[in-house]
Amino acid sequence: MQVIRTYVPDSLQNYNHLAVCEQTGDAAAIDPFDADHLLEVAREHDVTIKAIWITHEHGDHIRHLEELKARTRAPVYAPLTCQKRFDADIWLEDGNRLTLGEQTAEFWTTPGHTPGHGVFYATEPEPVLLSGDTLFNAGVGNARSGDPQTLFHSIERIVERANPDARIYPGHDYILNNLGFTLSILPNLDAAARLRQQAERETPDTRTTTTLAQEAGINLFLRLDDPDLISALEERGFDTGDREARFIALRRLRDQW
Ligand SMILES: [Zn+2]
Repeated sequence: MQVIRTYVPDSLQNYNHLAVCEQTGDAAAIDPFDADHLLEVAREHDVTIKAIWITHEHGDHIRHLEELKARTRAPVYAPLTCQKRFDADIWLEDGNRLTLGEQTAEFWTTPGHTPGHGVFYATEPEPVLLSGDTLFNAGVGNARSGDPQTLFHSIERIVERANPDARIYPGHDYILNNLGFTLSILPNLDAAARLRQQAERETPDTRTTTTLAQEAGINLFLRLDDPDLISALEERGFDTGDREARFIALRRLRDQW
């Protein structure tokens, strides 16, 4: 499944994505913020929106759900855990498979950012993870509408299930802020400093995306056993007894940063 990423003008730094079956040109539009913009991108790439996939219930991820559905007649697939929040045609449960043209993707429930959140994972020809607001490049979602403990378990499950080479396509362009946070806690993390230099030279449209393996080098929420990170949390007075405690401490620091 090829992923076409587009930065949505006038949005809350949202990325929208088209997951595309290269054989048939069938596309799934993920979290439509702007129907006009997505239809234009689909036209430019000569693909047809045949499905709409939703990661979660926040307004900026379902903003043009109804409009895009009306204009494409594409069915809406969404997490079953969002059932009372908006309308969809097919409600998804953890492990459900979705067909797009001749290819398939898998749906995983990943609550924590919100109670309803899920992500889409495909492995052919390259592994990709459409991660919504659960896992970001160099960070994780906030837990203001959910809870950090649940988010911790969802992130751990993603790392267990996904191929380390999976490329991460989150719902927002937050990489610069996230790397700033990483470097505020671990100033000597060279991989993060190098990636920040690179990202500063790029625009939202050209911004680098990371793989899960790269994330292990730069994303503090995936480095919970790093002795330097544990020391940094202890210096700030946090309980660092287990991975979950360290994750929650980091999430709190990120909220205050
Ligand atoms: Zn959100």
